[in-house]
Amino acid sequence: MTLGRGNDVASVEITGLAKRFGPDEVLAPTDLSVEDGEFVVIVGPSGCGKSTLLRLIAGLEVPSAGRVAIGGRDVTNAAPADRGLAMVFQSYALYPHLTVAENIGFPLKVAGRPRAEVAARVAAVAASLDLTPLLGRRPRALSGGQRQRVSIARAVVREPQVLLLDEPLSNLDAELRVRMRHEFARLHGQLGATMIYVTHDQLEAMTLANRIVVMSAGRVEQVGAPIDLYDRPATLAVARAIGSPG
Ligand code: ADP
Ligand code: MG
Repeated sequence: MTLGRGNDVASVEITGLAKRFGPDEVLAPTDLSVEDGEFVVIVGPSGCGKSTLLRLIAGLEVPSAGRVAIGGRDVTNAAPADRGLAMVFQSYALYPHLTVAENIGFPLKVAGRPRAEVAARVAAVAASLDLTPLLGRRPRALSGGQRQRVSIARAVVREPQVLLLDEPLSNLDAELRVRMRHEFARLHGQLGATMIYVTHDQLEAMTLANRIVVMSAGRVEQVGAPIDLYDRPATLAVARAIGSPG
């Protein structure tokens, strides 16, 4: 619990969460509490378990041990669609035969929302991500950055409490990554959603995060505000991940 917040229920609370694939423990028992509306960035070398942690929170993997709660509700055994969250991946995975508008509206359509409501939500989300002029196009007619914005729009169209993003910018060029970084900061302010964001990019982590979680070899090494980790890395692995002089 943190003072100054009206809500003392953590948005995402994981306790003893662990994952084995056969004999390999890819996530050691992990505790992490993410505040409502917080922007948490997970960093660490390739293969250290970042995606596994996100997929466990999303319900796309079954934990070997531990619990996941979202908004104070235990969702450990809930289906991904019943967790009140959405996930954005590195690859956009848009439907090639659908227009941008149809791609964005797809989760609402599947959820059986009325046609007029789908149209209104799609228009609002598209406007907030500067996608309005592209609504009639198909994915192949879009740039990489535009496609990634469509996949973000599709993730937020159901107004999730929690947005999980797994290296969403790693397929984009450097200039576009900088622009999208600002886009994420704006989106976070606008949605007020809790965001858990995996990246390789130290600058993304330092500028976007309220708190950074540094992982190494299947465990959480250190959690803290960017400046604190930079100034006082607990281990060499943290210094490396943050790019601090150590
Ligand atoms: P990161 O996202 O940090 O690069 P991952 O969470 O994808 O790391 O992977 C962590 C470890 O778990 C890696 O060693 C990877 O090979 C292993 N792993 C991930 N998914 C599976 C799976 N479905 N089966 C077996 N091993 C897996
Ligand atoms: Mg990964």
